[in-house]
Amino acid sequence: MSEQVDIRTLSKEGLQSLLASWGEPAYRATQVYDWIWAKGVHQFSDMRNLPKTLLTRMEAECIIHPVEVTHVQHSEDGTIKNAVKLPDGLIVESVLIPTEKRITACVSSQVGCSLNCAFCATARLKRMRNLAPDEIYDQVRAIHQQGLEHFGRPLTNIVFMGMGEPLMNYNNVLTAIEKITQPEGLGLSPKRITLSTVGLPKMIKKLADDGVKFNLAVSLHSARDSVRSKIMPINDAAPIAELRDSLDYWYKATKRRITFEYVVWKGINDAKEDIQALVGLCKRIPCKVNLIEYNAIGDPNFQQADPEVIEAYVEALTRIGVTAKVRHSRGKDIDAACGQLANKTSPEALESTDSEANLL
Ligand code: SAH
Repeated sequence: MSEQVDIRTLSKEGLQSLLASWGEPAYRATQVYDWIWAKGVHQFSDMRNLPKTLLTRMEAECIIHPVEVTHVQHSEDGTIKNAVKLPDGLIVESVLIPTEKRITACVSSQVGCSLNCAFCATARLKRMRNLAPDEIYDQVRAIHQQGLEHFGRPLTNIVFMGMGEPLMNYNNVLTAIEKITQPEGLGLSPKRITLSTVGLPKMIKKLADDGVKFNLAVSLHSARDSVRSKIMPINDAAPIAELRDSLDYWYKATKRRITFEYVVWKGINDAKEDIQALVGLCKRIPCKVNLIEYNAIGDPNFQQADPEVIEAYVEALTRIGVTAKVRHSRGKDIDAACGQLANKTSPEALESTDSEANLL
């Protein structure tokens, strides 16, 4: 027998032609598609309205690769962190963040990360591979279920702020988003999805060209090349002027303001020049700024800046009409906050590489 078809890699049309080639009527493809994506089943035998003959043939010739939530941690603030085991045994983490109005899923796009941002715990994991669209989808679905189970509310928002760089896994992330937003998926509006990137100009332009409808966030942390290059090695390949041009391009194409994510550290980006540089950039790019609390990852080079400095950032940005909000982290007690996802509960998945922290 030839190799089994991984059924979740098929588009709707692909599924239609497969089933048509088996002599099945067109509506069967609609039913199967609905079971796979809207209902999210992982077993063909759970597809209850299909004839036995079709189920038997699918079981023989097709496969669904399920992910498994192997470890769940609950924070005292309600945040839930999942360790998600992929079909090949690798592990990623995803987080449910509950607020009064929202249930937000923070999902991973890669196993590990190759960017080596000096302040991020995920950077200590070797990048192993990209996630497939169904592996991203299943993280989201699991959180949707947990929202219903623990809070009696469905998923409302998704942020691609887990492990990995989503724009280095462009096609799979976009396919996952398509499945999440389609009516036969979770039917979530793309306006409720935010993709966060380290800032890859070519890929940001591609997003704009592809007419995506979701939101874009950029992890900036400094608007000065001399500072940003020290803490985010990617800045050498994609310096701020190039990033700025790509964001200009994005705004012209989408008319959607981007969000800058920004952590302020003592002695790194807490000087007047740092504030001025950010103000300069924000004057040119329609944006808002999230000043994220730093979540310590055990490196003494990085210390949260004094509150007065953060306040000075907020004031300077507000003065030029840019919304700047201070964001406090959730789920710190279970290492679920920004930059803390490092598979700590799954030691078998830990692959230590040299931290780049001593770049400073
Ligand atoms: N690679 C993408 C997606 C990761 S999002 C990106 O860089 O945007 C994770 C966010 O948490 C990013 O904004 C990252 O810069 C931020 N972050 C990383 N380590 C952190 C830490 N220790 N404390 C607070 N934020 C951190």
